[in-house]
Amino acid sequence: MPAFRAPRGTRDLLPDERAVFDRLMRLAADLTQRYGYLPIETPLFELTAVFERGIGEVTDVVEKELFRLAPRTEEAESWALRPEPTAGIARAYVQHGMQTWPQPVKLTTTGPMFRYDRPQAGRYRQFWQFDVEAIGDAGPAIDAEIVELGHRFYAEAGVEGVEVLVNSIGDPACRPPYMATLTEYYRGHAAQLPPTERDRLERNVLRLLDSKDPDMADLNAGAPRITDHLCEACAAHFESVKAHLAAVGVPYRVEPGLVRGLDYYTRTAFEFYVAGREGQQQALGGGGRYDGLIGLLGGRPTPGIGFGLGLDRVALVLAEQGHTQPVDASPLAVVVSADPDDTVSRLRVATELRTARLRVRADLGRRKLGRQLEAAGKDGAHFAVILGDELAEGQVQFRDLQAGTQRTVALDDLARELARAEASHRHG
Ligand code: AMP
Repeated sequence: MPAFRAPRGTRDLLPDERAVFDRLMRLAADLTQRYGYLPIETPLFELTAVFERGIGEVTDVVEKELFRLAPRTEEAESWALRPEPTAGIARAYVQHGMQTWPQPVKLTTTGPMFRYDRPQAGRYRQFWQFDVEAIGDAGPAIDAEIVELGHRFYAEAGVEGVEVLVNSIGDPACRPPYMATLTEYYRGHAAQLPPTERDRLERNVLRLLDSKDPDMADLNAGAPRITDHLCEACAAHFESVKAHLAAVGVPYRVEPGLVRGLDYYTRTAFEFYVAGREGQQQALGGGGRYDGLIGLLGGRPTPGIGFGLGLDRVALVLAEQGHTQPVDASPLAVVVSADPDDTVSRLRVATELRTARLRVRADLGRRKLGRQLEAAGKDGAHFAVILGDELAEGQVQFRDLQAGTQRTVALDDLARELARAEASHRHG
């Protein structure tokens, strides 16, 4: 047992896995650029109040999972690591007066999030999210555009069998009467409620609907559905979101149990799952509309919608589905030399080749030429540049390790020769 390990619920992304993340992040950057999103970075921590207001105090994320930073005595402010990016981005929108920018302001970020969660497969205390937010457009077309963007991300990442679940959770006009109806329903079945759910009933009844407790399944199946209680405006909005989704060919299922139980979440809510995957409750990603959020953070009331897609779970599913992707770290060439002690020449020649933008390793050990060449082969290098006596005349040996051929090349031509060899190697 090593003396130190990564903190519980965190892990090291070793090069192979980091490469998967890299690919996903490049895909996210490419897609969001295609869709007109601008990258933004906000701090990894914020005033705790940003999350308490921006996510809600009666949520697991804030109530139980917030990674609070111990305050230093001289500082009165209370900070927490971000459990999700929306609240920080909404805070930035207000702080920088983005309401004066052309609307909607479409922002994207990808980075680590922190939740003091109980660690298990697919649930970490530090995890990565790819996030988009479109602030200043009440939809419904942009709702569908965002769902389609998320769906495309999975498709282009190579994840198979992604299902899109959508719902509308109404607005401050129709949700309160619905919640009253729902509360009445559960009160009528109070004896069947597990204790934790009974407690939630009076605090945030909507959360009972997405309870993971198997005892709740039957009860929830018979519960009144929000989609039967939407006001006219919300119903029309939801119909239009679905019509737009159909128009862009995104298959979806309406899931009445999909809720986000806070006042400033409005209308569209959605989640992405992989069909038939074990641990089904684990969404790959999700999002929704938050028309009340900007107002709560002190801005002029402004509608918004976004998603957060967990990259750890995508990587997990890709691995489960058999998509592996070994990192290709092999250099184009390795610079070796006949003199085991002449690391200076090796480093100098390699540096020149790197200046010419070539992928080159210098063998910096003090071992014999044969060993250096052996290591170059193991590295997967295509070529070896061998430095010997003729270096004094500005010449080196240029060996094709795979073909087993070798010729003399002028040092001045070496970069050009290698670049040409790389090009023909890539195309041939
Ligand atoms: P949420 O904000 O809870 O809807 O989370 C959005 C997405 O982030 C989820 O669908 C997951 O893919 C990912 N996610 C949330 N919490 C975790 C976690 N503890 N570990 C790994 N991924 C997570």
